Amino acid sequence: MTAVNQTADTTAKRGRTNWGSGLFLVIAHLAAVAALFFWSWPAVITAIVLYWVAGSLGIGMGWHRLLTHRGYKVPKVVEYFLTTCGTLSLEGGPIQWVVTHRIHHAHTDRVGDPHTPRDGGWWAHIGWILWGTAQNHSDSTVARYAPDLVKNRYYRWLNKFYYVPMLVLGVMLLIVGGWDVLLWGLFLRLTVALHATWLVNSATHLWGRTRFQTDDDSRNSWWVALLTFGEGWHNNHHAHPTSARHGLRWYEFDLNWLGIRALKLFGLAHGIKRVRFNRTASAWQLVRDPLRSER
Ligand SMILES: [Zn+2]
Ligand SMILES: [Zn+2]
Repeated sequence: MTAVNQTADTTAKRGRTNWGSGLFLVIAHLAAVAALFFWSWPAVITAIVLYWVAGSLGIGMGWHRLLTHRGYKVPKVVEYFLTTCGTLSLEGGPIQWVVTHRIHHAHTDRVGDPHTPRDGGWWAHIGWILWGTAQNHSDSTVARYAPDLVKNRYYRWLNKFYYVPMLVLGVMLLIVGGWDVLLWGLFLRLTVALHATWLVNSATHLWGRTRFQTDDDSRNSWWVALLTFGEGWHNNHHAHPTSARHGLRWYEFDLNWLGIRALKLFGLAHGIKRVRFNRTASAWQLVRDPLRSER
């Protein structure tokens, strides 16, 4: 497939309305507002814990830095744990998500980018979910962008039935905690998390500072980083996509990086790629820890 065809493939679905996603998002937003009238401490704590499990362990550490960019390696059981946590964010299947994000990096802020603010701020935030490619890539696009994942049986299954862990969680929350815990732990938490993730596509390609000169509009945004456990250091990330570390200074909050360092502390992460400042060369450089096989 040529680059031109590839671009055509990724933009061909623009204009098709994703009614199912739209209806679900309306229900999720209404339920999130309803949650405010069912306040309780167990509900709030459940929401905070699940926000971290799905957003940090699942999306940031799992789907983004591990699956999409292969910024570090972990034993398969740990990888599957992290990537299964990612399904609790209800952002589609992991293979489709990775394909969308790899296309974003291949065509950032150019023709073919599924969610660039150059097509409009609201388009980049939510429009592409409702009327764009969303997470519905063709088999040929998937085979091109995620050949490493399509040959994995577990990911093929999880990609198809990504909503199953969320359904199980929802039933458990209702049985164990009641309606207040369900509304907060699932709907309000999920709605806030979706907007936080979408802000990485919209806000961090619009507002913030740049450390690196990249040929795209990526920016570093402290407040998006706070909402997403470190994913807001987006200019750092576009400059060095494979780095497992996004917040490069001590004041650049990056809990996902701390999570990866914690895995390393327990001997579970190796081959970690990270950007660090080389004083001698006076430049930021990508370095990699040894792989387990190299020790
Ligand atoms: Zn980006
Ligand atoms: Zn990325």
